[in-house]
Amino acid sequence: MAVRYYDWIAHHARRTPAKLAAVDLASNRLFSYETMNDRVGRLARHLRDVHEVRVGDRVAVLALNSTDIFEVQFACARIGAIFVPLNTRLTVPELEFIVSDASPRLMIHDDDLADTAGQVAARCGVPAVCQVGGGGDYERGIALSSALPAEEGEIVSHDDVSTIMYTSGTTGRPKGAMITHGMTFYNCVNLGSIAYVTPSTVQLVVLPLFHTGGLNCYANPVFHVGGTVLVMRAFDPGMALRLIGERAYGLNLFFGVPSIYQFMGQHPAFAETDFSGLVVGGVGGAPMPVPLLKLWESKGIALMQGYGMTETSPSVLALDNMDAARKAGSAGKPVLHTEVRVVREDGSDADAGEIGELWVRGPNVTPGYWNRPEANKAAITDGWLHTGDATRVDEEGYYYIVDRWKDMYISGGENVYPAEVEDVLYQLAAVAEAAVIGIPDETWGEAGMAVVVVKPGQELTEAEVMAHCRANLARFKCPRVVSFVAALPRNATGKVHKPTLRGQFADVTVKGDPAPAA
Ligand code: ATP
Ligand code: MG
Repeated sequence: MAVRYYDWIAHHARRTPAKLAAVDLASNRLFSYETMNDRVGRLARHLRDVHEVRVGDRVAVLALNSTDIFEVQFACARIGAIFVPLNTRLTVPELEFIVSDASPRLMIHDDDLADTAGQVAARCGVPAVCQVGGGGDYERGIALSSALPAEEGEIVSHDDVSTIMYTSGTTGRPKGAMITHGMTFYNCVNLGSIAYVTPSTVQLVVLPLFHTGGLNCYANPVFHVGGTVLVMRAFDPGMALRLIGERAYGLNLFFGVPSIYQFMGQHPAFAETDFSGLVVGGVGGAPMPVPLLKLWESKGIALMQGYGMTETSPSVLALDNMDAARKAGSAGKPVLHTEVRVVREDGSDADAGEIGELWVRGPNVTPGYWNRPEANKAAITDGWLHTGDATRVDEEGYYYIVDRWKDMYISGGENVYPAEVEDVLYQLAAVAEAAVIGIPDETWGEAGMAVVVVKPGQELTEAEVMAHCRANLARFKCPRVVSFVAALPRNATGKVHKPTLRGQFADVTVKGDPAPAA
């Protein structure tokens, strides 16, 4: 089916021209649907006529969060170009790898990243750069161009690639997942229908827009139905709490990854913040410690848990609010138009309660990675995407993401999923952050090492950590070493970067007692 996707902005500009589409909080700029549509049209013409961006060309963006990023996304769609948002935290060599891979026709950047963008563009031979902000080519282009109306935009099909979005790089080098117009459309339907996304929605975006959690949970679904999106330049827990408490612009929907909720939960303003304006607070992207869910529950917020990945644009599983307390720890059930299986190593379906790998199929699943035929063969079988996530489903059909297969370690022949041990560590009131990795154990093959950040002003000893684990976990799951650090290494999406952590402790080994590992 060929249609003018993404021209939701043009659609809402016709229906509700004066309605607030987006607010750029850092620059205090407000855009109605009519204004945004006009800017998108002007930018589309500027990209096409001045920068010679053609159908299928890539347009990379290296910029901190702002409403400009949405404009680029929608302008690219209007001229059939492929939008490539880049991770702003990467170094020049890391970006060089990605930009060479995507080979964009043009790179758009903001003032803060001008130097990095210039270096990367020069190294990769990107034909043109375009600067957002005061005096930059971007605003000049918008001012000088006439708007390209949606009716004159390109007609694209479900299967055309709209975006190349690089994965978070939690397990290795980021891979460019091809996101089609159809995938994004289905995510809007699948996620929007369960996350209470309506034309009355006003959502605060704090996650980076180069990540699927920032762009698609729930910003794109909100634009799809004609709601309002507030954009924070970079996450600031105090500011987020203030905006939620004040119901700024009518704010009623919020999405974060676990670390976002953790930083907000630890902020001094958390206790007195009024959360009653929130219809939904969604969480996904990494295992959510149950004690953290309970902390938010104590403020009347039943966080809506969800599971997804870049490759599935992203929503796959979601837990309804009404189940949040009863099924705490579950990522819920499959969203609309999505099939899932839990699969054993031999490819057969696992029984209820048995841990297997989660596979996903549906119109929200990527056709593959950009320029990665080998990775595609390994990751996709008959349309089923192998997620790499160890998962089990209970008798009632609720799914539990246990951990990544790559993070699991084997101690005395027993599989240990670090997320389960981390959950137990988070029960200790003095623990601010915790991560568990496998280290070599001369007796048992591998053993666990707990890396812990203690809350400011609190104390915790290795013996206390060990005693708590022994009281709550089977012996083979108990960490054998505890290390206290000031902070955990995290990637741009707030996930603990376990390869870095494993590197930091690469020389630690233990020799476990030859006692039964029970
Ligand atoms: P890379 O693929 O580059 O290593 P990444 O997998 O972190 O990075 P994303 O696509 O951002 O990149 O994240 C998807 C992954 O996040 C999932 O495969 C899963 O491991 C994890 N995840 C997402 N939601 C949840 C959840 N609710 N509970 C546990 N883990 C989750
Ligand atoms: Mg991944």
